[in-house]
Amino acid sequence: MNDTRKQCAYEKCEEMPLSYSKEGFCIFHEPEKTEEDCKRFGELVNEKCKKIDFNFIGYVFPKEFEFKTKKFIEAANFIDTTFQGNADFDKATFQEKAIFWRATFQGIATFIDTTFQGNAGFVDTTFQGGAGFVGATFQGDVKFWGVIFKKESWVYNVKFKKGDFGEFFYRAAKTGSRNIGQYRQEGDYHRFEMDAIRKQQKWFKRGWNFIFQKFLHGYGERPFNVAGFALFIILFFSVMFSVFGIEEQGNPALVHHYWTCLYYSVVTFTTLGYGDFHPIGGTRILAAAEALMGVFLMALFVVTFARRWRR
Ligand SMILES: [Zn+2]
Repeated sequence: MNDTRKQCAYEKCEEMPLSYSKEGFCIFHEPEKTEEDCKRFGELVNEKCKKIDFNFIGYVFPKEFEFKTKKFIEAANFIDTTFQGNADFDKATFQEKAIFWRATFQGIATFIDTTFQGNAGFVDTTFQGGAGFVGATFQGDVKFWGVIFKKESWVYNVKFKKGDFGEFFYRAAKTGSRNIGQYRQEGDYHRFEMDAIRKQQKWFKRGWNFIFQKFLHGYGERPFNVAGFALFIILFFSVMFSVFGIEEQGNPALVHHYWTCLYYSVVTFTTLGYGDFHPIGGTRILAAAEALMGVFLMALFVVTFARRWRR
């Protein structure tokens, strides 16, 4: 038992175990470090970084830890790492790959304006506190699968230089927001997710979905986009009717009066069809087209509005 070559119980770790560690872990892997060892841990990690060694597999970072503005000039490995406090990676640069597989952030994790120049891996990573990725830049491939946001997340203005990897990012953030009742944010992330998916599509589908998904109703999240478009249609057709003329009931002379045509446009759009004015000749095609759009847009508005309102 008193073997002096005794090693840390963590797989492949060659450090000496702490005398008080119940499970025989070293200072890097022990989750319940003493105050003193927490301090020493910080010093040892800084020394490691100076030696350009960024392997932190399974490490348990106590309290707050700052990697702010740090340059990781070699691959950084945070597989199975636990951050017991806040982890601050703001403005840090990962020049090679950065791996956070199965890492657990128990405090707030921030990657604000962080640059990932190599590939980045967040697989089965858990953010138990809040998580911020505002302004982060990913230049390589991004794996972002099975990530769980248990609290609030701030995933805005994230830039993906190599393909759009946002889909998985925003889906995880969306699920997290829903689970904590942040429905407005859920809606935002839904739009970001749909946009990321759209950007991967072929040009025709991408263009089609731009008009009929993003622009028209903001992926079901923007009822006032629909209302705005409806207003545009009503105004557009009012001008058309005013140019080509409509006919008043029992009066064969063409009416070009703008306000009358605007009134007629509204009556047509809403498919009220009073019949006090009516289209003649080619104008009938215009009126039919407006009525069809009216039916479609009014239904779309109700659906989109209900979807938002339900939250
Ligand atoms: Zn160890």
